[in-house]
Amino acid sequence: MEQKEPLRVLFLSAEVVPFAKTGGLADVAGSLPKALKKLGVDVRVGMPRYGRVDPEKFGLSTVLEPFPVPMDDHTIEASIRQTTIGDDVVVYMVENAELYDREGIYMYHDDAERFILFCRALLEGMKRLDWQPHVIHCHDWHTAIVPNWMKTIYKDDPFYKETATLYTIHNLAYQGIFGYRVLEVAGLDEFGFIVHPDLPDLDNVVDMMGRGIYFADIINTVSETYAQEILTPEYGEHLDPLLRDRRDRLFGVLNGIDPEVHNPATDPYISAHYDMHDLSGRAECKRALQEEAGLTQDPHIPLIGAISRLTDQKGFDLIAQVMDPLMQYLRFQFVLLGTGDQRYHDLFTQIHQRYPDRMAVFLTFNAPLAQKIYAGTDMFLMPSRFEPCGLGQLIAMRYGSIPIVRSTGGLADTVQDFDPETGGGNGFAFQPYEAMALLATIVRAVENYKYRETWHRLMLKVMAADYSWDASAHRYVDLYRRALASRIPRPPREVYHVGGRGE
Ligand code: ADP
Repeated sequence: MEQKEPLRVLFLSAEVVPFAKTGGLADVAGSLPKALKKLGVDVRVGMPRYGRVDPEKFGLSTVLEPFPVPMDDHTIEASIRQTTIGDDVVVYMVENAELYDREGIYMYHDDAERFILFCRALLEGMKRLDWQPHVIHCHDWHTAIVPNWMKTIYKDDPFYKETATLYTIHNLAYQGIFGYRVLEVAGLDEFGFIVHPDLPDLDNVVDMMGRGIYFADIINTVSETYAQEILTPEYGEHLDPLLRDRRDRLFGVLNGIDPEVHNPATDPYISAHYDMHDLSGRAECKRALQEEAGLTQDPHIPLIGAISRLTDQKGFDLIAQVMDPLMQYLRFQFVLLGTGDQRYHDLFTQIHQRYPDRMAVFLTFNAPLAQKIYAGTDMFLMPSRFEPCGLGQLIAMRYGSIPIVRSTGGLADTVQDFDPETGGGNGFAFQPYEAMALLATIVRAVENYKYRETWHRLMLKVMAADYSWDASAHRYVDLYRRALASRIPRPPREVYHVGGRGE
């Protein structure tokens, strides 16, 4: 299989830019394949065709009319549509009106069935299209069943018996945990639960993420630091014993961003264009953002932005704690764009009421507004409790907004603390997950902002850095080759055994 022919990679993701996005996974799935294609990989992306993906707008054509896909003790009909992104990267979309034609992407009672059917339809569909992948690259829990199938029901299938799997963990906190019934749906009930001596919880639940880690030929996560952190109980989300067992197959590869989508010189959503050689348009972006956000239009006041899912992961408890003292003693403005936990919606709505002309809160998901915030803010806040990679800080830097981060995971790998004496560093970083540490770091950033020339140099420095996929796409090609070379035909039974119904 591994001669001169191009490497064929089936890239499965629950969300892909520009079709459906709730977070960084979509950015990765919409940009990494384009970079892989430039390296000569025949990569094809698979995702469900959600109701929000307009077939006309995206020029979908039907490549497979409805065909039966095995599910549980019966079959379900699905069809496959096709479109392309970038330089002719094929995107297959699995269509089944009942399962995917809904308003949202996740959070339905039958999510396990929805993503199992999506994966199974693609595996069966590739046979029908006679496109045989060398590697199936799976992302997060939604597609984690594929490595499990490859080592069980597909292991003797002539079409897939040499196919290797790479499993990428974008966020260990979302594991996709279900009951035994899901094994029946997936056709895996004869194999049962995974039993592991250090994971007592695994023998009576189906943990999709755990299965991806357990069965994949190679595993990676999206930064070097997070790859190390998840080996510890603090960051391992109960799966650290499993990850430690497989650490010789676990790698960290930093995410990139799409330099075409995130480009202040061409971005269609921002008020004025600018680049490193001429930053003048940036002042207009700041003014327009202040206007849209209902803030005082003042070019000199430091404007801090945050764009994020509003969850505990992202450090919003710390931000909420420091907002009152900062607003009272420090001159700055703050714009927040995010959706998530209701308690953060309530909390930030209340805080906003106290400072209506210095703070703006947009509790929605709005991609164009996000671009305006990256372009119009002076600083970008990301004090995450943990962060597999983080794209917000990378996009912010591309637009010249200086990151203020907690040093963890990918944030630690991409943002180094600025030292005004030496000019070293590219942002403002702190370590302990404590409100005082965040407060002091924001104060420090705002103090540094007063030194206009130094700040200007800092902006040019962050804008000049390379956040593209160029380096990391090569690393993924290496991981594909490594997965093929070190493919394990069966599950590693010397460490585990698979038991039925937890007996
Ligand atoms: P995560 O994947 O954990 O949500 P990342 O920083 O890796 O975090 O990626 C988040 C992506 O989602 C970025 O592209 C960010 O701009 C975008 N994003 C997050 N929240 C919103 C929102 N409310 N509106 C628009 N874009 C958002």
